[in-house]
Amino acid sequence: TKDQISSINSLIKKKEIKIVDFKFNDLPGLWQHFSIPAHELVKESDPHAGIWAEGIGFDGSSIRGFQKIQESDMVLYLDPSTAVTDPVCEVPTLSIICNVFDPINKEAYTRDPRYIAQKAEQYLKSTGIAEESFWGPEYEFFLFDNVRYSQTVNEGFYSVDSVEGIWNSGRDEQPNLGYKIRHKEGYFPVPPHDSLQDVRSHIINKMIETGIPVEVHHHEVATAGQNEIDIRYNSLVKQADNCLMYKYIVKNMAQQFGMVATFMPKPLFGDNGSGMHTHQSIWKGGKNLFFDPKGYGMISQTAKYYIGGLLKHANALMAFCAPSTNSYKRLVPGYEAPVNLVYSLRNRSAAVRIPMYSENPKTKRIEFRPPDPTCNPYLSFSALLMAGIDGIKKKIDPGQPFEGNTYELDGKAAKKLPTVPGSLEQAIDALEADHKFLLEGGVFTQDVIEAWIEIKRAEIDAVRLRPHPWEFQLYFDV
Ligand code: GLU
Ligand code: MG
Ligand code: MG
Repeated sequence: TKDQISSINSLIKKKEIKIVDFKFNDLPGLWQHFSIPAHELVKESDPHAGIWAEGIGFDGSSIRGFQKIQESDMVLYLDPSTAVTDPVCEVPTLSIICNVFDPINKEAYTRDPRYIAQKAEQYLKSTGIAEESFWGPEYEFFLFDNVRYSQTVNEGFYSVDSVEGIWNSGRDEQPNLGYKIRHKEGYFPVPPHDSLQDVRSHIINKMIETGIPVEVHHHEVATAGQNEIDIRYNSLVKQADNCLMYKYIVKNMAQQFGMVATFMPKPLFGDNGSGMHTHQSIWKGGKNLFFDPKGYGMISQTAKYYIGGLLKHANALMAFCAPSTNSYKRLVPGYEAPVNLVYSLRNRSAAVRIPMYSENPKTKRIEFRPPDPTCNPYLSFSALLMAGIDGIKKKIDPGQPFEGNTYELDGKAAKKLPTVPGSLEQAIDALEADHKFLLEGGVFTQDVIEAWIEIKRAEIDAVRLRPHPWEFQLYFDV
């Protein structure tokens, strides 16, 4: 609208912005961008002409998961509500998140993850079940001082030259002062053991500057520099936007401190991995539909059906929520990652946990624990919502809650409980067999599901075909 455009123009003036940066995400979920001089945008003040009406073109053929070469022209439409001063660039830069459109039919692009998320929000409303959904991701990530990648004899194969059962502090002190975090005791002694306190504080200040409300930051359980920063819950598209900004800030700030951040789920053998537990609730008329003071864990029947949908479709959901070959090295017993497809109060070994921190109806939500930070949040949130809606519509009973610690079950009892898939291949097979619930209301389209499966099968093969470092330990001298 005219108002939004003029407020952007006055922001450009007030902050002496020189550059405007357009961001959108590829299918796997990494931000892509290009920039124009700010005065070029200021010239365009008519909402019915130029950039604001016609968008700005780019070549979509080299973007992962996007168009093939013969149909490569794409157009970005700016979403003025996302404009913020870029928290990372040194030259004053305005950052704007965009939607991707097809220039020929002038329609939103089916493989734009943000469009899928917008459709998921609309679909929820159209069902009449709820008006809004809220999302609270708990990103965990590692900060390393030095990651030495060693290249082995096989071209293109890298391994992080770090911990293989070695006790590592994450940060290299010079000289070694001995304030090392003990193995799996990173949660959470004060500095000097926690040497990343100030780094996290600088990171959250940047997040707050861009308008992302931060709730807490802390060191995590792993020995070597594992961190968590939690942001306040938000609606689906807005939260996914925040998630990409979050990773952008963490990675760039790490670099400024001479470190490197990684969101890969299991970078270190024998230590905790990084999850992205996803808290969720749905609301109607200002009321949280998941709250019922008389229900198990104070959750409602609606919440139970939602859980039923999540558990029923869990294997297929994992293709979006834990979408890396490395994801399945995290989802093993003994590291606080979920393994069993059950729900439970407080229990961290279950896929669905019902947090019991407070009796405030507003805070009632369910926590889905299998996701990890390599997921594309637009797609994982949307897929979870679609599974939950399916559960509510079909009244899917999640069965009895599970109250023990699933890690401690003996073999026979553990075998009775359904588990998360053991590999990305199993998750992709599950998605191939079970994705009708995602296509409801045209939220996900068949071409997106197919593109996703194709990309992921290529990743599976790329890993499968390369000799693994441990195979040298096992077989080299046989
Ligand atoms: N790092 C654990 C995971 O991989 C989660 C630890 C926690 O409960 O915060 O899911
Ligand atoms: Mg955590
Ligand atoms: Mg959690």
